[in-house]
Amino acid sequence: MIEKKELLSEGKAKSLYSTSNNGELLMVYRDDTSAFDGKKTEALKGKGEINNRFNAFIMEYLSDNGINTHFLKETSNNESLVKSLDMLPVECVVRNIATGSLCRRLGVEQGLKFENPLFEFFLKNDELGDPLINDNHIIAFEWGTQEEIDKMKELTFKINELLCSLFDDAGLILVDYKVEYGRHSEGLILGDEFTPDGCRIWDKETGESLDKDRFRKDLGDVVESYQIVAHKLGISI
Ligand code: 5GP
Repeated sequence: MIEKKELLSEGKAKSLYSTSNNGELLMVYRDDTSAFDGKKTEALKGKGEINNRFNAFIMEYLSDNGINTHFLKETSNNESLVKSLDMLPVECVVRNIATGSLCRRLGVEQGLKFENPLFEFFLKNDELGDPLINDNHIIAFEWGTQEEIDKMKELTFKINELLCSLFDDAGLILVDYKVEYGRHSEGLILGDEFTPDGCRIWDKETGESLDKDRFRKDLGDVVESYQIVAHKLGISI
């Protein structure tokens, strides 16, 4: 029996607790949903459970395909046990199609499909609105080493290949996503989560958004859309 101990951090959609197992943490997925650096928030009933399930499925799929992750097991409907990591304060984003902040930042039209996926680093800092940074910033401010930068790119592109094909087979397009990494005795490994809260997924036939953009853009049926994606991927809810 794993005992939940001290609350270590409370993010916008998840809480992290220490446990009676040394070096293992409990990640609790809440229904809370936020966008625009916390300026828009709402609790969406059932989102915590579906995200916990979704994340477990993706993490296990990645692990089966050679990506080392912090995920250990689901411990309840909305909780999972993970390895404790020393997280790097950067977000890794891969884009297969131009949309979102990229289009706002560069004034480019939405919808351009990249021949080679685009990789971007962002600094994790809510107060600054998670600004775009590059490799040199990471080195200069010692947020990570060159070796870690190379590893993050290599793993994030490998994840893209694996997930694009998984989503494509399910009639879905993986437009873009964000992942985060942390240090562990096993090396740099995938941490945080992979859920429709942190990626864009479009229906291959209709182009409809089935991710958190439904919340950002007030399109409604947010949790229902996450369920549609889960169903298409064969995730049992
Ligand atoms: P954009 O830079 O266009 O806002 O986001 C690119 C991709 O990364 C989207 O799939 C978006 O959901 C994800 N993303 C970027 N920043 C964050 C973040 O702070 N939290 C979460 N959950 N996802 C993010």
